[in-house]
Amino acid sequence: MSHLVKVYTADNVLEVGLMRSLLELNGIASELRNHHTSSLLGEVPYTSTWPELWIDQKSLSRAQDLISEAQNRDVSGEDWSCPSCQAQIPSNFDLCWKCGSTAS
Ligand SMILES: [Zn+2]
Repeated sequence: MSHLVKVYTADNVLEVGLMRSLLELNGIASELRNHHTSSLLGEVPYTSTWPELWIDQKSLSRAQDLISEAQNRDVSGEDWSCPSCQAQIPSNFDLCWKCGSTAS
């Protein structure tokens, strides 16, 4: 029986989605909670409904490593567009949250 734990939360769905993609690309399945598809990007989020990322407890330490690594990257750079699908990627991510391509 797996036990889910909350590994990450942020005030915007995009950021949580990026972390989710990052974990998935590293083989860690996650569950998104408090995700409201009706709220548009750029809208002021309700703090009581921040999206949360939940994962299996056995993957927790690895997931935390991946997340802190992503957060500790140099964020002074510009956002970049994915060469494959043209999605806008925050500078502290080096792979596309949409298709998994890396920055070229
Ligand atoms: Zn892409």
